[in-house]
Amino acid sequence: MKRRKHHQSKRMWKSALRHLPGGVNSPVRAFAGVGGTPLFVSRGKGSKIWDVDGNWYIDYIGSWGPLILGHADPDVVRAVREAAGRGTSFGIPTDQETELARLVKSYFPSIEKIRFVNSGTEASMSAIRLARGYTGRDEIVKFEGCYHGHVDALLVKAGSGATTLGIPTSPGVPSDFTRHTRLLPYNDPRAVRKAFQRYGRRIAGVIVEPVAGNMGVIRGTPEFLETLREETRNHDSLLIFDEVMSGFRVSRGGAQELAKIKPDLTVLGKVLGGGMPIGAFGGSVEIMRSLAPEGPVYQAGTLSGNPMAVAGGLATLKKLKDRKQYKRLEKLSLNLAEGLKEASQRQGITTYQNRVGSMMTLFFCAGPVTDYASALSSDTSRYARFFHSMLDRGIYLAPSQFEAAFVSLAHTERDIGNTVAAAEEAFREIK
Ligand SMILES: *Cc1c(COP(=O)(O)O)cnc(C)c1O
Repeated sequence: MKRRKHHQSKRMWKSALRHLPGGVNSPVRAFAGVGGTPLFVSRGKGSKIWDVDGNWYIDYIGSWGPLILGHADPDVVRAVREAAGRGTSFGIPTDQETELARLVKSYFPSIEKIRFVNSGTEASMSAIRLARGYTGRDEIVKFEGCYHGHVDALLVKAGSGATTLGIPTSPGVPSDFTRHTRLLPYNDPRAVRKAFQRYGRRIAGVIVEPVAGNMGVIRGTPEFLETLREETRNHDSLLIFDEVMSGFRVSRGGAQELAKIKPDLTVLGKVLGGGMPIGAFGGSVEIMRSLAPEGPVYQAGTLSGNPMAVAGGLATLKKLKDRKQYKRLEKLSLNLAEGLKEASQRQGITTYQNRVGSMMTLFFCAGPVTDYASALSSDTSRYARFFHSMLDRGIYLAPSQFEAAFVSLAHTERDIGNTVAAAEEAFREIK
């Protein structure tokens, strides 16, 4: 193995630390979960990225999910360029926004009307407001380990009791703001039934990642998701699926298509923009009618429905029309997953794997990993060593145990083979 040099990255990191808090614009990029200094990227193409020192890597971050077509997909790049040439922003309606709405609706039948915003955070924040405005109630249920962006009311960490009142994870969030957030354990239908029994008539909505990706990948069990659907329906609360990560990813129609469950509201982002900043939320005509200007629930955005973001999204989603794409993605992902599992077994490293389609996490624990508590039982220092060993071998994984690895349509069987071979060596090295 040839040692990769990182002189330029180290120099840039020093400079970044002087000007950006923690050197980054989003915390996990700072390598706090694995130690060491982050690499600076100069470009990407397909499944690969190049750092500023000229090293290349097979990338499994894919911008944390959006790049299902890989880096710099020619059709996406062309569409964004053309859109920019026509004008970067107007604040006046464009027909492309309607076209994107129509396309998203054709993949997500639960959505009859949709509002585009600029990020997943913005979308989940607005969906919560809409749920409260529509139902006239305040209480929101969220689950331990689920992430819905850095929305004040949803930045609530795991508590011990099933119905513990929310405690803000972050300073700067007044406890008053999370007073109406009820925290429950993930994949625990009994806790859900009990909560609805006690205060179901006060719950505006339940927000959940139907396939969780932000505590590592954990699939919501059919019983859990069906219980959510049943209880919310029986209590006139809204079921909100946060499919920012799983949408267009685990299947064309997201986790709701796999689970055959129709949520009241769906939150989207990531793949929706193919790497451009966008988010969206949508649901039935009846619910979306409450949103301004049709209804009283206010929501707005100077750059919402931005022409370049919409163009990036349209180009991406059009290429996902053919379901054969998902078959290919499944095959690549299965081969990677099986390869990693077998390599770790051969090297005697205890791991537990969760995978749904092209998102997967290899937990460094015996498992099973079904909720936040079991995810937290992972050996994060062992993951850190694995991460650095893989990085040395040209494989870019997420710098945290509690994130997903994403396979894209630009990955090849050869990439997968090289990744598994590197993992075999890495497992041997960290034994
Ligand atoms: C990434 C993510 C978000 C936040 O989206 P941003 O675009 O980063 O604001 C919300 N929910 C889920 C499930 C996500 O994975």
